[in-house]
Amino acid sequence: MKILFATPECAPYVKTGGLGDVSAALPATLAALGHDVHLLMPAYQDMKVEGEIGAGVDLPPYAQWPAAQLVPVKLDSGVTLLLLACPQLYQRPGGPYVDAGGRDYDDNAMRFGMLARVAALLGTVHSPLPDWIADVVHANDWPCGLAPLYLAHARVLAPHERTASSVITIHNLAFQGVFPMAAGDVLGVPYYWRGMDGVEFWGQLSMLKAGLQFADAITTVSPSYAREIQTQAHGVGFDGILRARSDRLRGILNGIDTTMWDPAQDPLLPAHFSRGDLKGKAACKAALQARVGLPANKGAMLLAMVSRLTPQKGVDLVLGALPRILASGAQLVILGSGEPGLQQALRDAAQKHPKQVSVTLAFDESLAHLIEAGADAFLMPSRFEPCGLNQMYSQAYGTPPIVAPVGGLLDSVTDASADAARGTGFVMTGCDAAGLDDALTRALRAWREPARWRRIQANGMDRHFGWEDSARQYLAVYEQAALVAAGSPLPATGISPP
Ligand code: ADP
Repeated sequence: MKILFATPECAPYVKTGGLGDVSAALPATLAALGHDVHLLMPAYQDMKVEGEIGAGVDLPPYAQWPAAQLVPVKLDSGVTLLLLACPQLYQRPGGPYVDAGGRDYDDNAMRFGMLARVAALLGTVHSPLPDWIADVVHANDWPCGLAPLYLAHARVLAPHERTASSVITIHNLAFQGVFPMAAGDVLGVPYYWRGMDGVEFWGQLSMLKAGLQFADAITTVSPSYAREIQTQAHGVGFDGILRARSDRLRGILNGIDTTMWDPAQDPLLPAHFSRGDLKGKAACKAALQARVGLPANKGAMLLAMVSRLTPQKGVDLVLGALPRILASGAQLVILGSGEPGLQQALRDAAQKHPKQVSVTLAFDESLAHLIEAGADAFLMPSRFEPCGLNQMYSQAYGTPPIVAPVGGLLDSVTDASADAARGTGFVMTGCDAAGLDDALTRALRAWREPARWRRIQANGMDRHFGWEDSARQYLAVYEQAALVAAGSPLPATGISPP
């Protein structure tokens, strides 16, 4: 199958969260399964890409769209990376979505409209690549949300021409790509699709809604999140659309990259360990305590968190649980970056309790690996969590996670109190202070029983979070999307409304 995977970020080039990891791993796994995968992303400033660089293809300016170039790079994984080079849109300091000061770029509608437009073009007879037209265009999150709309439009304009089917994956429904409706002119959104059945969202234009309305199939990154987003409590305004389209919505749990996240050979660790031999983990704990400036105390349970600092991640709940953590004699290490208010609160806590709390406000891949390896338990009290990766990394690294009962956390962690034989972590009874307090109490107690703790660690390390199963489920979705695009009745694989 010819698969075009369109994304605004991809590790290791540009990553702000889980989508970056998925964009690296899923296309590579699909390629390993024998598929022809092209990965489209913008060429941002200072991106370092290794691979065999091919001849660039010019995209001439057209109406409001600026001139650009597509530069193919053959990666070791077999994936062809297509860099969308358009310096006036993408060559600037700052992140993929926001400037160096953390503000959204003024022209994000155009920046990501362009990405979506080129993704769609690659699925039509007007494909800029000679000899390559996608069978399926897989769009990710709001920045690619218009791609399914453009493909649907191409089908309307030229019903007898070949057009790819489209799939959109929701990595986080909270980011909706909302712009003034006037952006529809620049983006070439037909008037007849600017209403409620099209892109309109509270009087504005939502790129994510375009994707949800026009994609032949919709996926999200865990089965539980697929159920939750059909409810008013978690639907962020889109639950109605998702319920109406539940026959094409499916939750597929993300995997993890088991070559990059393997404690037996992780090059970012000072010592290695495995399920059968955990000695190296103690060395990692000592190295972590030294690196973040905490006393080298083997007898203190070391709790950890690596996270974007937003209300979603429950950082405030961890701050609320601080008295409990301090009183137990445990240590807490936090790595994160994000909202200034949360950063300040964490900085204050670390200053007040330097022997027990250490906070690093940065994005630091190598410290993230050392934390996963050196900590005793990992905290993820998220208010919602589409999939979450850290709870899977921490299980692989023998660091039982303490998680909220939501989304992908529910689908990837087994509670050790409820299931002593198979438990891999601690699931909170609710996403609140009482729920966290209860789970912390249970974890602190279990850690004091070494045989029990080793059991929980071993259960987590036995779990397989590889990508292959998930990639096969995506292939089934691509086939389903092709049937929908061809007008066939839907095979019964969708999930039902709650
Ligand atoms: P989200 O996508 O909501 O941010 P995920 O758990 O799905 O959450 O993925 C987050 C990814 O980003 C993980 O790979 C995590 O290790 C990484 N990460 C988040 N914050 C940091 C940080 N400050 N430093 C290093 N890695 C981070």
